[in-house]
Amino acid sequence: MIWLERGEHLGSGTLGRWAIESDTRADVLLEVLDHSPALRPLRSHPRAEHVARYGSSALPLPVAAAFLGTLGEYAARLARGSRSAVLTGARAERVARCGDGSYAVTVTMDGVTRLLRAETVVYALGGSPVEVPLGERSISAATLFASAGRAAVDLLPSRSPRVAIVGGSHSAFAAATMLLRLLGPRLGPGALRI
Ligand SMILES: Cc1cc2nc3c(=O)[nH]c(=O)nc-3n(C[C@H](O)[C@H](O)[C@H](O)COP(=O)(O)OP(=O)(O)OC[C@H]3O[C@@H](n4cnc5c(N)ncnc54)[C@H](O)[C@@H]3O)c2cc1C
Repeated sequence: MIWLERGEHLGSGTLGRWAIESDTRADVLLEVLDHSPALRPLRSHPRAEHVARYGSSALPLPVAAAFLGTLGEYAARLARGSRSAVLTGARAERVARCGDGSYAVTVTMDGVTRLLRAETVVYALGGSPVEVPLGERSISAATLFASAGRAAVDLLPSRSPRVAIVGGSHSAFAAATMLLRLLGPRLGPGALRI
């Protein structure tokens, strides 16, 4: 098995950049360590202990990301000890099906392009928010979450702001919760709409 990651580290993805709390409880995040004998030794790692201090509460995403980064490092060490390889700083550019049914994956690493062959390819590339150009008074969820809401406070009028949240799923409710917490006293009836 070959793992490819365009960043320098496995595990944390982009979670460390968000200045908000998880909606996963800390104890639930740690359960992964109890389900795998290979990962159980990490229970006493300082980053796991840091997570454990939040008990059954939510925890700041940078703390969750640091723990997931530790899990990633550990998993990479286990993989390197087997017949697998972990390539960081390796960006998958293209996947093509070959005549024999296998796949050719074009990878760029340190400015050099390589071709890897594989029987199976798993895409685990995450997602990114859709940026809709709605004008200078619009804020993306990514900006809102990365700035812990300061972007909204700076942008909205100080009296009777009215906000439309476009999209009706997880990020929309997280944004509404953040705005209610930050702007509560400034929001009149019907000021926030999803
Ligand atoms: C603000 C926010 C808060 C969230 N809070 C929670 C929460 O509290 N609890 C919860 O369970 N989930 C939460 N999530 C969702 C959670 O982060 C995602 O569901 C999860 O990270 C997705 O994991 P993933 O591995 O699919 O993608 P990611 O974590 O995004 O990882 C994708 C990886 O693929 C790499 N990559 C991308 N393209 C390439 C390429 N071409 N070549 C090589 N590597 C590539 C990236 O560098 C990245 O490391 C939150 C998400 C956001 C945005």
